[in-house]
Amino acid sequence: MEKISNYINGQWIAPVSGAYLDNVNPATGTVYSLIPDSDNRDVQLAVDAAKAAFENWSGLLPEKRHAVLARLADLIDRDADALSLAESIDQGKPVKLAKSMDIYRAGANIRFYATAAMHMASEAHASGNEAVNYTLRTPVGVAGCISPWNLPLYLFTWKIAPALAVGCTVVAKPSELTPMTAYLFTRLCREAGLPDGVLNVVQGLGPKVGQAIVDHPDIPAISFTGGTVTGKKITSSAGPMLKKLSLELGGKNPNIVFADADFEKAVSTSISSSFTNQGEICLCGSRILVEQSIYDRFVAEFVRQTRELVVGDPLDERTRIGALVSEGHLRKVLGYIDLAIQEGGKILTGGRQVTIPGRCEKGYFVEPTVITGLNQQCRTNQEEIFGPVVTIQPFESEEEAIRMANATTYGLSATLWTSHLTRAHRVSAKLKSGIIWVNCWLYRDLRTPFGGTRQSGVGREGGWEAMRFFTEAKNVCIRL
Ligand code: NDP
Repeated sequence: MEKISNYINGQWIAPVSGAYLDNVNPATGTVYSLIPDSDNRDVQLAVDAAKAAFENWSGLLPEKRHAVLARLADLIDRDADALSLAESIDQGKPVKLAKSMDIYRAGANIRFYATAAMHMASEAHASGNEAVNYTLRTPVGVAGCISPWNLPLYLFTWKIAPALAVGCTVVAKPSELTPMTAYLFTRLCREAGLPDGVLNVVQGLGPKVGQAIVDHPDIPAISFTGGTVTGKKITSSAGPMLKKLSLELGGKNPNIVFADADFEKAVSTSISSSFTNQGEICLCGSRILVEQSIYDRFVAEFVRQTRELVVGDPLDERTRIGALVSEGHLRKVLGYIDLAIQEGGKILTGGRQVTIPGRCEKGYFVEPTVITGLNQQCRTNQEEIFGPVVTIQPFESEEEAIRMANATTYGLSATLWTSHLTRAHRVSAKLKSGIIWVNCWLYRDLRTPFGGTRQSGVGREGGWEAMRFFTEAKNVCIRL
């Protein structure tokens, strides 16, 4: 059975403890590889390597860092088929989706920041004839990057690329549930010529490896994507150490459909925004709010299209809904469906675990599920389920739609369907979300700042924001 290694100082090495964890293929429920069960000793080795590599990497001309990262992006594209297969086996997502979304966007992340490395600039301010001030931005040092399981290589690269581009060296930890693509990626780093110690990947459990990264005194900046509960825990450790923190956390995103929307487009895109990646995308719209006058028609068509989604073997090209990431997550999602029933919800379609005959019969599959009859205050509409489960509820007026949309403690993203131009602007301004899509979903321009508000996160990523996060700014004032 394949044993994944840590990647420290350019070497693939076993964990100091010598212990390994099982890596399960969620589509088959079987162990298919072993992951290092690393601890703070492995993190220390990684920090030592990253510190040693920092001076050289941060001192390179930007075009040299650009050249290595651009090669790396090309290698991701070259190996897209193998990486997509690995991502699908690790996470349970349809292989077709892995290729079109995760791996494609992983390459795009690296390519974007490869280019940005050459264009990073800082400001100068003339104070009349008296002084000139300029801002010097220098890489912060060793960056800690911790990523989740739902979009493994995509989010891993989203964290590390801006750090590498500005000249930081990195100690990174992918989720223990999905370690494979980060491991394969380290092979591409070597081939691209990334110097030893610039990227170090320590595999293992969050409370051991993740926490050791957060607690390490020589890692001054932590970029984390994951659940809100973990985000708070990280804050309580890193806050007193006065570390820089960027937290991309959970969501409970509204998807608002007004009667004047393009109906067909609103329904078909809502199917995607509800169920893509089995609903395991932080940006999925899990609360659909529909204007009363089209509510019945919308619900009927939405349920009809939901029933057409093929739940099946992620390696089958026809599959739209693959396996949930783990048995524990399967139990959590099914538990929320039970809770919805207890809270008075009506299941219009789905609601059950699915057994796929053949090699996937022990996999963790759930039917895409549509629930109505629940108010916004119940737990089903307040807590992040992170599975193929959506609720639909009618609203009477624009004010009510905004009130319902804002009725959770989260604030990650919102989707808005309307052909009324001023309403689109007006409602967007009132929604308490970091990202608002009007008549579309998941469209990304990497130059835009990305991130949530309220319980969905602190700090914005993407574009220059992410690169600046990994620097410290120094103002130099010269009296003329
Ligand atoms: P978790 O918070 O459980 O884990 C995220 C990462 O943190 C994993 O690598 C995990 O390791 C690690 N970790 C766990 N405990 C600690 C700790 N004490 N200190 C440091 N690191 C730790 O999230 P999930 O992996 O379950 O991911 C799903 C969540 O991520 C959802 O809430 C989703 O909304 C959110 N998310 C947010 C996004 C955004 O951009 N806002 C994007 C994508 C997902 P391990 O897995 O080994 O436990």
